[in-house]
Amino acid sequence: MADDVVIAGAGPAGSALALRLARGGVRVRIVEQAAFPRAKVCGEYLSPGAVRELEALGLAPRIERLAAPCRGVKLYATRGGPLTLTLGSGSALALERAALDAELLTAACAAGAVHERGRVLGTIVEGGRAAGLLVREPPGALGERRARVSVGADGLNSTVARRLGLAGEVRATHARFALGGHVDGDTSDGWISMFAGEGAYFAVNPLGGGRANVMLVLRQRELATWGRDVDARARERIARLIDDRAAFADFPAGGGRLAVGPLRRRVRRLCAPGALLVGDAATFLDPFTGQGVWLALEGARYAADAIVAVLHGGAREAQAWREYARACRRAWLPRRVLSACIGCLRSNDRLALAALAFACAHRRPAQALLDACAGVP
Ligand SMILES: Cc1cc2nc3c(=O)[nH]c(=O)nc-3n(C[C@H](O)[C@H](O)[C@H](O)COP(=O)(O)OP(=O)(O)OC[C@H]3O[C@@H](n4cnc5c(N)ncnc54)[C@H](O)[C@@H]3O)c2cc1C
Repeated sequence: MADDVVIAGAGPAGSALALRLARGGVRVRIVEQAAFPRAKVCGEYLSPGAVRELEALGLAPRIERLAAPCRGVKLYATRGGPLTLTLGSGSALALERAALDAELLTAACAAGAVHERGRVLGTIVEGGRAAGLLVREPPGALGERRARVSVGADGLNSTVARRLGLAGEVRATHARFALGGHVDGDTSDGWISMFAGEGAYFAVNPLGGGRANVMLVLRQRELATWGRDVDARARERIARLIDDRAAFADFPAGGGRLAVGPLRRRVRRLCAPGALLVGDAATFLDPFTGQGVWLALEGARYAADAIVAVLHGGAREAQAWREYARACRRAWLPRRVLSACIGCLRSNDRLALAALAFACAHRRPAQALLDACAGVP
């Protein structure tokens, strides 16, 4: 029997959607290419907005046991800072993505979702409608997973979005790439440190027990000049960004380091007949403001409402999809604008330094800006 819904990708967006749908009595299948638990390049900061979404899913107590509290952020620009801003006690967390994503997927399966390993290669389209996903199963066989609704929750480089013509290609030369991983020896006790300068930034996010997430984000055209000498060049770059302003700076070498990019997305539409996109497949904000998991979980909530309305509520699909797209736009537009403004300030060192000096002198607007980005009510 065909499923009601088939989802490509078991990141926060795909698993949260599967969890909500399964709890709503929908037959749902998730197809994920990676073996779980799997690592993911991410700052691993859970904003108060993300924590609220996890609470709404009933997962917060378990996640809080696994996570470390995040007290706030110290921002540095070239020769400036720190600007120290708080996140409110217990409202933000730090947790490795391997653990977070595994928890969400386990909860979805416990609620009745079916999870299988496979790489989604494309969508089945019949009569102008998506009718399911084409999947390469682990031994290499091709299979079809038919469903009334197909969902692309397959991240930044979504195959589903591309195959349905919902997203365009991006020019990598104008984009940023991220390198990151985990290191030991951190003593920053719940404070995220972020160092920005010369079009790049480096972030250290303490995960508890001396372990930290470290992440370097830089322009593709700079990365392209590094050739094979990534370890040494990354360390040099980080030393320049930190400029002796932090006691702790380490970076994982070789196999311990993950990379992702280009960090840019051109999404034309969120929906097509029989299909929709959620999470990074639907929208992507510069990771500097750490809103991605929040947006993914929130988008999954809106998508679940739309799908349940169609499958169980007798709503017309086109209308439900329009409402889904409208809810996403309404929620994301202000955050997009904020993220773009912060990106502009950050991309020019003199502007960044002036903005930091202003923010140090006027802490309330700076704190209000962080609260808005983090989803502090
Ligand atoms: C450098 C960086 C730092 C970030 N830091 C933060 C942060 O600190 N806090 C925060 O909230 N957000 C952060 N983000 C954003 C956050 O990582 C994403 O917004 C979030 O992971 C989106 O979740 P998702 O489920 O949409 O996609 P993903 O988490 O990317 O999950 C997609 C899943 O789909 C699977 N998949 C992909 N293609 C296929 C296919 N063809 N077939 C089957 N499966 C497939 C992948 O294996 C993956 O498991 C950061 C992002 C980057 C790039």
